[in-house]
Amino acid sequence: MSARLLVILFFLFVLYLVVKTVIGFVYLSSQRRKRRERLGGEMVKDPICETYIPKAAAIAKYSGGQTVYFCSQECADVYLKKNG
Ligand SMILES: [Zn+2]
Repeated sequence: MSARLLVILFFLFVLYLVVKTVIGFVYLSSQRRKRRERLGGEMVKDPICETYIPKAAAIAKYSGGQTVYFCSQECADVYLKKNG
């Protein structure tokens, strides 16, 4: 094997590592974006403690002709007590 061939092989190997890393990074960031969209596509505000929570994780209560979202059952109870 000539030294030149070894150099070429070495560069191909480095190129392979770079491509692999870039593809892995792009794949991971797209997975992360998908997960974020699914979990926190829409943020809702808890009227009691004024915290923003992802709609999917919030506790929804129908009150006064509208759906109100809460971070926890405690906040929902407080709201329902106040608003009948
Ligand atoms: Zn709350």
